[in-house]
Amino acid sequence: MTYKAIYLTISVLLLGNTAQALEICGPKIQGAITASHTADVHEIYLNGKKIPVSDSGDFLLAFDRDARLKQELKILYKNEEEIYPEEYYTFTISPEKWDIQKVNGVAQNKVTPSEADTDEILRETRNVKEAIAGNTNQSFWKNGFVMPLEKYRVSGKFGGQRIINTIPKSPHRGMDLAAPEGTPVTASADGIVTLSGGDFFYSGNMVIIDHGQGLFTMYAHMKDVNVKKGERVTQGQTIGTVGQTGRATGPHLHWGASWNNIRFNPETLLELGKSEQCINI
Ligand SMILES: [Zn+2]
Repeated sequence: MTYKAIYLTISVLLLGNTAQALEICGPKIQGAITASHTADVHEIYLNGKKIPVSDSGDFLLAFDRDARLKQELKILYKNEEEIYPEEYYTFTISPEKWDIQKVNGVAQNKVTPSEADTDEILRETRNVKEAIAGNTNQSFWKNGFVMPLEKYRVSGKFGGQRIINTIPKSPHRGMDLAAPEGTPVTASADGIVTLSGGDFFYSGNMVIIDHGQGLFTMYAHMKDVNVKKGERVTQGQTIGTVGQTGRATGPHLHWGASWNNIRFNPETLLELGKSEQCINI
């Protein structure tokens, strides 16, 4: 994978006074997630948007497919006087190349939805938005991630620009794993279920799991789901089975990941917290 090969040459521009030690570990590239740590932190903002941070100073940073290359962190630190000195850090991420992905044979009403389908699509958007809006302050993600299927064939990569039945569509925001219908799907890490089922227009039956600090994984097009909203799940636990519900041309699992409402490549989760490519800024 290119994201593994290309690691950042970080350029740091310090605008504040004396900066605290701030560590960022992992690939700084479009579509990836990294783990970070800093001490004595009060609040952190990435490109002006507040991000979740644990009580011990752990936080995540993910970059979407089209993330701008120049990223800015603003950190408010605690000190003894309870004042929060601001520090600014800017760093550069590398661009990634994305595939053009041709998908044919999709039912025409799933490519260009009718007006009657609009309410259904809005219901899906609203439910997913709600499911990834909360945030458990527990850092379940720190124990690492595994693939949600034991055996699979990658049938769609993250970030591919999709041309569905010859009509250019929005990019693919997850990873498609083809497997026979009924194959058990397992939780890729510990967490709390925030959405289960739904029978949605695009995603069909879906499970979303909260792993803490704004990080969620998503499992779509499932035949059956057998966990409930609010349930605590453990890594490797069966949460349902592979199906082809929603917009799908064959049985597969769409595995997605979201951090702070940014969709990134779930495959980069497999290295989360394990990377020794750390930089102190
Ligand atoms: Zn997909």
